[in-house]
Amino acid sequence: RRGYQLVFTPHVARLDLWKTSGHLDFYGANMFAPIRVEDAEYQLKPMNCPGHILIYKDRRRSYRELPLRLAEFGTVYRYERSGVMHGLLRVRGFTQDDAHIFCTPDQIESEVEACVDFAKLVLTTFGFERYQVELSARDPNQPKDYAGTLADWQRAEAALENTMRRMQIPFERREGEAVFYGPKIDVKLIDAIGRPWQLTTVQFDFMLPARFGLQYVGPDGHPHQPLMVHRALLGSVERFFGVLIEHYAGAFPVWLSPVQAVVLPVSEKHQNYARQVADALRAGGVRVELDDRQEKLNARIRDAQLQKVPFMLVVGDREAQGGGVAVRRRDTGDAGFRPLADFLRDVRELIDRRVAKW
Ligand SMILES: [Zn+2]
Repeated sequence: RRGYQLVFTPHVARLDLWKTSGHLDFYGANMFAPIRVEDAEYQLKPMNCPGHILIYKDRRRSYRELPLRLAEFGTVYRYERSGVMHGLLRVRGFTQDDAHIFCTPDQIESEVEACVDFAKLVLTTFGFERYQVELSARDPNQPKDYAGTLADWQRAEAALENTMRRMQIPFERREGEAVFYGPKIDVKLIDAIGRPWQLTTVQFDFMLPARFGLQYVGPDGHPHQPLMVHRALLGSVERFFGVLIEHYAGAFPVWLSPVQAVVLPVSEKHQNYARQVADALRAGGVRVELDDRQEKLNARIRDAQLQKVPFMLVVGDREAQGGGVAVRRRDTGDAGFRPLADFLRDVRELIDRRVAKW
């Protein structure tokens, strides 16, 4: 719907590619050592950008094809010292929901705007309501750390600022936080207990298109250089899940819960009915488990409670006869008898509408 093409690119590429891209010079400290194969050196990819650039470069492009938006769930590998790795939050291999948009200079602001708008939709869907936006500019005292001319940077930073103003999004400007190839917008979301987490990033890039000699044929029939936008909404999928777990303290809304309901037969003779209930819910698209272990009912309820399963469905004689379940909610406990069809409808509603609080 937002006009992306999904692509996949290789995890290793010739070292030369990373020389051309500038990663070797500007990003080398974050990369693993090259791998030697048959007299050539290969590099595990720290970013997906060069792969997408090669797809762009595969043939002549016309202005009519722009903006060209390539998206990939791309796994990248970055060297981190062993001491700094931390759970899901900081790892050496992770998957980015990465995309690169190739566009003309007059498309840049609307593309940046569309990315920020997309990010807002994704973050609010996952239940994050508060966020802060930062515009990372270059450090004017360290021009050597950045590629491109001062004029390029001023134009790029102005484009990002204009977009934020037009969208009426308050932002903070941070000098010296830009990446080497261009300024960026970072969205930090604020979790349930007020901690900021850096996830979404939208980066402006005038440098890689120049280094790779990218072109498109304009309406005038002459070659022009496209601009590039790098964007990741969740950032790293692994890190995003780490943040999500922290935000909800493990108690996910129903639509996000790995197990949405667990069926608990009161005793062995209710196992058949319990299985029917579980099958019916599974067929209705609910992630359900049957816990018929030979443990006391209270112990099984406690386990499900510790797993933060939203619904525990206790079934005994009364439920089997009435064609329903005794509903127990993770948060408020006993919620009484509910006919099975009605319970299924209630849960489907919570899932389909992605209800955050229920
Ligand atoms: Zn990129």
